[in-house]
Amino acid sequence: MYDLTFAALEAELAASGLRPVHAKTLWRALHRDGAEDLTQRPDFLPPLRRWIVERMTGDGFSIALPPVRSETASSDGLTRKFLLALEDGQEVETVLMGYPGRHTACISTQAGCAMGCVFCATGQMGFIRHLTAGEIVAQVLHCRRVLRAAGSDGLRNLVLMGMGEPLHNYDAVMAALGIITDRRGINIGPARITISTVGVVPGILRLAGEQQPYGLAVSLHGATEEERSALVPVSRRWPLAELIAACREYCHRTGRRIFFEWTLIAGRNDSPETAARLATLLQGIDAHINLIPLNPTQSYDGAAASAGTVHRFQRILRDAGFPATIRQRRGIDVAAGCGQLRAEKRAA
Ligand code: SF4
Repeated sequence: MYDLTFAALEAELAASGLRPVHAKTLWRALHRDGAEDLTQRPDFLPPLRRWIVERMTGDGFSIALPPVRSETASSDGLTRKFLLALEDGQEVETVLMGYPGRHTACISTQAGCAMGCVFCATGQMGFIRHLTAGEIVAQVLHCRRVLRAAGSDGLRNLVLMGMGEPLHNYDAVMAALGIITDRRGINIGPARITISTVGVVPGILRLAGEQQPYGLAVSLHGATEEERSALVPVSRRWPLAELIAACREYCHRTGRRIFFEWTLIAGRNDSPETAARLATLLQGIDAHINLIPLNPTQSYDGAAASAGTVHRFQRILRDAGFPATIRQRRGIDVAAGCGQLRAEKRAA
C-alpha cells in the first residue's frame, strides 16, 4: 500500500468507482495516523470499508510494516538501530537518533550497495536489489510508530544515509520522498530531508535540473583522484574533477549549500596537507564539511583518526573559510555505521 502516491491511490479507488474524498480519508489513516488496522475506522464510509475488505485480503494490498528482525540501542539509549525484514527475506537497517526535542531517522534505499566503498559494511556486501518506494516509506512509518509508542511525536528529520546509494535508485527514492513530504500524511518538510550520495554525477545533475527541494550531502573522503578512488571505487566511473564540476553546477542552479562528508581514517586522509588540498578543491562552492572519524568495520583494517588530528583538520578548513563540524559517532556501540548490524547478524 505504501508504494502508492496520492495520485495513484486516487486512481486505484476511482477504478473501483470511489470518489476522491475516500482517497483523502484512506491516505490520512495510512500516513498521518499510521493505522495498523483499517477495518475498524469510524471515519471510513461504507464504500471505502467494502473496498478495504475486498482489496486487503488474499493477494491484494498490505499495510503491514516490515517486522523487526533485531534491535539494538546505544548505551546512552539515544540511538536505536532496527534490522527490518522485507517480504523476500532481505534485511535493511533503519536507525533512529534522538536529540533534545527531536529525532532523526536514517533510512536505507537499497539492500546491499553497488558502490563498494572499502570502509563500509554495506559496500562489502555487494548490491542485492533496489528498495521500492513503499519499502522506503515503511521505514519512516516504523520509526514514527516506535516514537509514538514511547509517547513522542518528534520525528523531524530524515537522512538517506543508510544502506545503499539513493541516487542509484533515483525514481523510487523520489517517489518515496513525495509521499513522505505530503502535508496530508507524514509531512516531513523537504528542507529537513538530506539525500546522501557517494558521487553519482548524473543523479546530482538530475536533482539540480529538477530543482528537487531536498538537502544534498556528498561523500568525498579524498582530495585527489588517487586518494579518493582508493577509498571510493566509484570515483573511477565519475572522477573527482567531474564530481566537483557537478557540485558547482548544483550550487549554481539550485542556490543550495552542499554538505561534504569526510570519513577521517588515520594515516590515509587525515593529514594537514590533505585538509589544505580539500580547501583548495572546494573553493567557490557553498560547502559545509562534516568530519566523521571512521566507524570500524570487521573487514576493513583502517583506524579512526585521533581526536587531535580531527581537530587540526577542522581548524585548517575553518581557517580557509569553510564551516566544518565534527560528527558525533552516535551509536558506535550499536554498530551504527551502515550495514554493520546486518553483517554482524549474518556472521553470528
Ligand atoms: S558508504 Fe554508502 S555508497 Fe558507499 S558502499 Fe556504503 S552504502 Fe554504498
